[in-house]
Amino acid sequence: MCGIVGVVGRSDASSMMLEALRRLEYRGYDSAGVATLHDGEIHRRRAVGKLAALAEKLEAEPLPGEIGVGHTRWATHGAPTEANAHPHSSERAAVVHNGIIENFRELRGELERKGYEFSTDTDTETILALITQKLEAGLAPFDAAREALKRLEGAFAICVIFRGANDLLFAARRGAPLAIGYGDDVMYVGSDAIALAPVTDRIAYLEEGDFAAVTRDGAQIFSADGVLANREVVEVSTATLSIDKGEHRHFMAKEIHEQPKVCRELIGAYTDADAKRFSAPTAEFDLAALKRLSIIGCGTAYYAGAVARYWFEGLARLPVDLDIASEFRYRDAPMDEDQAALFISQSGETADTLAALRHCRSAGQGILSVVNVGTSSIARESDLTLPTLAGPEIGVASTKAFTCQLGVLLALAAMVGRARGAVSESQEAALVQALESVPDAMREALELESIIAAIAAEVVRARDVLYLGRGAMFPLAMEGALKLKEISYLHAEGFASGE
Ligand code: GLU
Repeated sequence: MCGIVGVVGRSDASSMMLEALRRLEYRGYDSAGVATLHDGEIHRRRAVGKLAALAEKLEAEPLPGEIGVGHTRWATHGAPTEANAHPHSSERAAVVHNGIIENFRELRGELERKGYEFSTDTDTETILALITQKLEAGLAPFDAAREALKRLEGAFAICVIFRGANDLLFAARRGAPLAIGYGDDVMYVGSDAIALAPVTDRIAYLEEGDFAAVTRDGAQIFSADGVLANREVVEVSTATLSIDKGEHRHFMAKEIHEQPKVCRELIGAYTDADAKRFSAPTAEFDLAALKRLSIIGCGTAYYAGAVARYWFEGLARLPVDLDIASEFRYRDAPMDEDQAALFISQSGETADTLAALRHCRSAGQGILSVVNVGTSSIARESDLTLPTLAGPEIGVASTKAFTCQLGVLLALAAMVGRARGAVSESQEAALVQALESVPDAMREALELESIIAAIAAEVVRARDVLYLGRGAMFPLAMEGALKLKEISYLHAEGFASGE
């Protein structure tokens, strides 16, 4: 899921959007584009590859206009080509979209039968086709987009501009975050506040199902049922918006090196150093009453849960089910009332994890979460959220958020163990002490960087890399393999040593 930006009310709309897209680069993308209205007509520039390619095009052929939408795409439907790059536009509207339209095949068939000619392989073009069709039927721009929205299934965020509508951005979120930024006589839309940081720190976050009409003097936000909703405009602190790499070559390096510091802070927040006990505000939840725990996450967060399973079972003697979020809903697992589900996610917006959370909620489960972003959907929809306190993680491959997830999960496992009478006072003290030694151990590990670099120079020549581990080291092996795959594109696999 990549980046969206929208602006209404700035003469430099396209260069402002390019800058905002640069700030979203950390999410990864394969192509990018912007569209503006100029003399009421839609114009766009798109390019495959890095934003520099788009910047070059804009330099050669500038895009005037005071209103526009921009996008960095991470292709899910259709190859990363210029034709498939967003914005997608017809004569009447231009659309940028993050996420997936699950019923795009049915919609495409239906629209083709009605004579719409598709020119891309994307699911996104069905949104454009629906809106265009409604506009052609005579609906006003806002109503056309709103009607189109009713037909869409999936997890997405969208932003739309319309031919001849110089003062309207249509924005909607369902399962993917979207923020509205407030300026003076100018308004913005962005996938996150970081994208908008140079232009505004006044942000309203759309809630699940919201859609909005954004004009240069404000925004009207509606909840999913179409009722005008008052979403608070918050001032976002510049510290959380900083995307400064410091002296590091890239964000992942910076975040790896931040681990001793953020872990130290996390330990401060989750332990009572004098009493050598773990502590966290868990009053909302009766830890002692738990009979079984489902742990659910995706990717790295799933592996953090896989490590924690050894702790919840081994220390707290609590039976655990462990699931990949995208599979959980399809497993049709029986769930009892004295069971709870624990969701792990860095962003707190992971679409599959959120969907699994809602599935568990509807089955009457108590909901716990471990997330890094306190304002996120997963945090908001949980009975109890334990923050990972890792600070913003910009790198696409999770590092410090993973180690902080482990810290929180250990604290929780120990506290559940205490509540169930499975962890004694002296055992807990020993665990606290062990955890307190982690930041120094991390520091020592980081000092090995030059040796690790030499090993990496060897490993890069390998065709396949196998990571082996037993016990809690087995999920760590899988996480290690995932990291190598994500970063180097080398084939890697984690194996239980015994296998
Ligand atoms: N599904 C859309 C596509 O493949 C959007 C992908 C994205 O979130 O960047 O174009």
